[in-house]
Amino acid sequence: MMSLRRSAACLLAGFLLVPGARAWGPEGHRIVAELAQRHLSPAAEAQVERLLAPEHTRRLADIATWADDIQDDPAQKALWKATRRQHYINFRDRTCGYQPPRDCPDGRCVIGGLAHYAAVLADRSQSEAARREALKFVVHFVGDEHQPLHAGYRPDKGGNTFQVRFEGKGSNLHRVWDSGMLRTRALDWQDYAQRLDARGPVALPPASDTPYVAWAQESCRLSRDIYPDGHAIDAGYVEAELPLAERRLREAGRRLAELLNRTLG
Ligand SMILES: [Zn+2]
Repeated sequence: MMSLRRSAACLLAGFLLVPGARAWGPEGHRIVAELAQRHLSPAAEAQVERLLAPEHTRRLADIATWADDIQDDPAQKALWKATRRQHYINFRDRTCGYQPPRDCPDGRCVIGGLAHYAAVLADRSQSEAARREALKFVVHFVGDEHQPLHAGYRPDKGGNTFQVRFEGKGSNLHRVWDSGMLRTRALDWQDYAQRLDARGPVALPPASDTPYVAWAQESCRLSRDIYPDGHAIDAGYVEAELPLAERRLREAGRRLAELLNRTLG
């Protein structure tokens, strides 16, 4: 029998996970990275291979979750602290208007994080180590920014405090979007990426002069319509919303490839 103390500890652990707000789970991030990898130009691919050589990989999927993983590494405590707010943005209201000093003070939001690390990656005067780290953040943040609940406007920590029932268990809307819905396909990330890639290039909205702002605002607008009426996530919800989650993965993958081809090509 589970002791009261233990169940209280589990409950507490559940709450402690809430502020983590990691956006896509590992599968989602790896899918985005793999979709991008498949569309790198030969020049960009060669650069990726060179930058990632010390990591003993050439696959973007292998480094796609590093920006989240550092929170569990005591040696990276300062870096995690400096970057943890760059995985998301909280918009003020449902108009999704963006005022940098208000919504992204000191660049501490996903828009600022992406702009910073994309610039470091593009700067050939930076050290290889700095550009390698920048590549890892860019791969991750492009994914995060396309998760609608990572650029929402409601005061619910990106749906983390919006409790739902999903597959017979208590969960929250953020977690369902991170990983719960994707898992209903029962595919590993390689097969999932393969299937999404086979659908061909996803149509993108017209390019913006400020793409990192535009991508976050897209997520914010999409987040308006993804809240269930009640607090139960049923098969009908998944059927309606999973295609949107998959479209965001495909958009993120295509945009990440374009960004890397432009920056590293
Ligand atoms: Zn993240």
